[in-house]
Amino acid sequence: MRRKGLASMAAQAVEVTENASSVTLGPAAGLSCRECGERFPLGPIFACATCFGPLEVAYELPGGDPEALRKQIEAGPHNIWRYAPLLPVPADVAGKPNLNPGFTKLVKADNLARELGVTGGLYVKDDSGNPTHSFKDRVVAIAVEAARAFGFTTLSCSSTGNLAGAVGAAARRAGFRSCVFIPHDLEAGKVVMAAVYGGDLVGIEGNYDDVNRFCSELIGDPLGEGWGFVNVNLRPYYGEGSKTLAYEICEQLGWRLPDQIVIPVASGSQLTKIDKGLKELITLGLVEDRPYRIYGAQAEGCSPVSTAFKAGHDVVRPQKPDTIAKSLAIGNPADGPYVLDIARRTGGAVEDVNDEQVVDAIKLLARTEGIFAETAGGVTVGVTKKLIEAGLLDPTLSTVILNTGDGLKTLDAVAPTTGPTATIRPSLDAFRSAGLAG
Ligand SMILES: *Cc1c(COP(=O)(O)O)cnc(C)c1O
Ligand SMILES: [Zn+2]
Repeated sequence: MRRKGLASMAAQAVEVTENASSVTLGPAAGLSCRECGERFPLGPIFACATCFGPLEVAYELPGGDPEALRKQIEAGPHNIWRYAPLLPVPADVAGKPNLNPGFTKLVKADNLARELGVTGGLYVKDDSGNPTHSFKDRVVAIAVEAARAFGFTTLSCSSTGNLAGAVGAAARRAGFRSCVFIPHDLEAGKVVMAAVYGGDLVGIEGNYDDVNRFCSELIGDPLGEGWGFVNVNLRPYYGEGSKTLAYEICEQLGWRLPDQIVIPVASGSQLTKIDKGLKELITLGLVEDRPYRIYGAQAEGCSPVSTAFKAGHDVVRPQKPDTIAKSLAIGNPADGPYVLDIARRTGGAVEDVNDEQVVDAIKLLARTEGIFAETAGGVTVGVTKKLIEAGLLDPTLSTVILNTGDGLKTLDAVAPTTGPTATIRPSLDAFRSAGLAG
């Protein structure tokens, strides 16, 4: 059933591509199948017509002197467009209406390092500083440019929350209509954020995997004609936005690779593309060629990838999510097998923590570094701690933890255990009695 649906979608998409074959997106040379390697022209397609494998962008990357490319990047804008020569976007992208995310802070987390016993240098890449306060602005920015190139007029997505907000905001700025789909029971912060930009927001009675299935049906139906789903039919372009995290981390470390990176895993796209970005930097000679380890972080209540990793399986068995880390609650992750492969190939691991550990880790990061992470960030910090304790992450090596979203969007997670130290009458006597002086 599912295969047949994909086949007809792939066939339909190839027709679209033939009309769009004049599209140029910077160094993007075409799409290639991650399973069988077959090549396709650039177009709004995501599944291989031969083997149904996922498609990704293939490049004609700039050759020549790495020093010249490094200088060109450093002279670029303070957002992801400084890496335009490595992205599927038009060369003049910086002048187009877009939210221009990226170049977020890489915080040297010495206080957290002391608490966790990390001596090799610990950093938090804080993507809560993006325009809609999550890493999703990066992937949407690229998908918007692809949608423009392919002539779509409506932007859409299936979302665990952050993506809906990122699409809603980017659509306004870039002049698209938007209609986005979320599970009906998300956090208030995510729902308001997704709705406030004025596009259409639809709550689906079901979990994310139901939302995603619904969107796949909509793409194959005349009802969805002219719609660019950033994480479905524009997924090959969308995914490339996560490479900019790899580029920024290395540039901010002085064009050096970190030894270890801990990345939260929902669909697994972000982790997969960070690995792709690191490999590109090595190929281009922008960083030295040496090993690095990639670690994936999940919540225990939605841990299909870490469960498979720990069991030594190559196949990821879908789960029904039940966790406070709703932005990571994808029970059937599209890129799960690739995450397993990358963690194993690089000598990393995939681990999970429970809801209580997520809350503790949110508070740990806040108390040590003054960074208030959403639940996904709590998952990543919590997993880092667990990996160190288990001897799976080397505390003597340089380590980067990703905080992918803002704690203000998931207040409910910490509200029950966080509040005023005291509530008093406005008098010195009352303050003295509260025992807080000195
Ligand atoms: C979407 C999301 C992720 C994970 O993204 P995938 O690419 O689907 O693995 C991580 N953190 C936050 C906050 C997100 O919104
Ligand atoms: Zn294929």
